[in-house]
Amino acid sequence: MKIITIPTVYLLSKQSIQQGELDRFLTDHGVSWSSDSSVAAELVTEIAGRVCYMSYAKPRPGGNAAYLGHIKEVAHGSVFEHAVWSFLVTGVSRSLTHELVRHRAGWAYSQLSQRYVDESVAEYVEPDVIASDPDLHSIWLEAVTQAHEAYVKLADKLFEKVKLQKVMEYLRSPLAAGIMACNPLNLEPDRETRTAIRKTARQAARSVLPNATETKITVTANARALRHFLEQRGSVHAEPEIRKLANVLLEVLVQDAPNLFGDYKRTPLPDGTFEITTDHPKV
Ligand SMILES: Cc1cc2nc3c(=O)[nH]c(=O)nc-3n(C[C@H](O)[C@H](O)[C@H](O)COP(=O)(O)OP(=O)(O)OC[C@H]3O[C@@H](n4cnc5c(N)ncnc54)[C@H](O)[C@@H]3O)c2cc1C
Repeated sequence: MKIITIPTVYLLSKQSIQQGELDRFLTDHGVSWSSDSSVAAELVTEIAGRVCYMSYAKPRPGGNAAYLGHIKEVAHGSVFEHAVWSFLVTGVSRSLTHELVRHRAGWAYSQLSQRYVDESVAEYVEPDVIASDPDLHSIWLEAVTQAHEAYVKLADKLFEKVKLQKVMEYLRSPLAAGIMACNPLNLEPDRETRTAIRKTARQAARSVLPNATETKITVTANARALRHFLEQRGSVHAEPEIRKLANVLLEVLVQDAPNLFGDYKRTPLPDGTFEITTDHPKV
């Protein structure tokens, strides 16, 4: 059984600017404009914001950083909704994703199914406060191991039970009489039925899996939604595992789009995580 303490974030996709189309729009409207940023997320938000007042002709000095900084100051955050990233997040617990999916506006999720995917090879996420204490760690490990073993046992027994039920159902069906006449030994369920049996077994057996069970989730979110998440989940009041995820996401986002996320400060906390704060919350 593998134990995990750090989330992994894969930046799956991000936007690109279609320069030809931008040039066509500017030409069609008789203006020339260019940005000092080459980051699609920073550009698309500035372009979108400038549409509101058609302010391409005489931009104020300071370039993209100043423009997006002003958007933060006046909290005109809807233009930040045009910048979008997709992340694949692994090495996080089911309790973390239960909190993550509460973020609704501007988010999309696709999470590993415990009904279809076998959890008998599951990994578990251990909270740092437990991992750093040998006594707590051994209590945690014993509980997780027991739950894991119960899951494997239940899944096996449920599989046999449901399979038998399906075979009995099949034997009682009018179709069976004809097929059995051709091949009396063919009692093996077909592929679709096998999937249904496994799903029925796993969806019941998973009821004993702990919150610590590792999961994987693909998330797509826009810059405004991500800022809201960073502020709520990077807070000192947030749960440490999701605060760690917020910090990993912030690192990726600052690197990719500093003009959108560079205003965040990270302050070390006694538990080893970092509090995330900004002078421009709730943009
Ligand atoms: C430290 C902490 C502790 C928490 N504790 C608990 C807890 O004990 N129990 C619990 O159930 N949850 C808890 N939560 C979750 C919290 O209540 C929110 O569900 C979660 O943080 C998502 O916030 P949100 O609704 O603002 O985000 P989103 O759903 O992403 O919404 C973003 C913003 O859009 C607007 N919005 C979204 N949906 C609507 C709507 N339907 N109507 C009007 N405006 C809308 C709001 O302005 C909202 O702030 C906790 C969160 C934190 C950070």
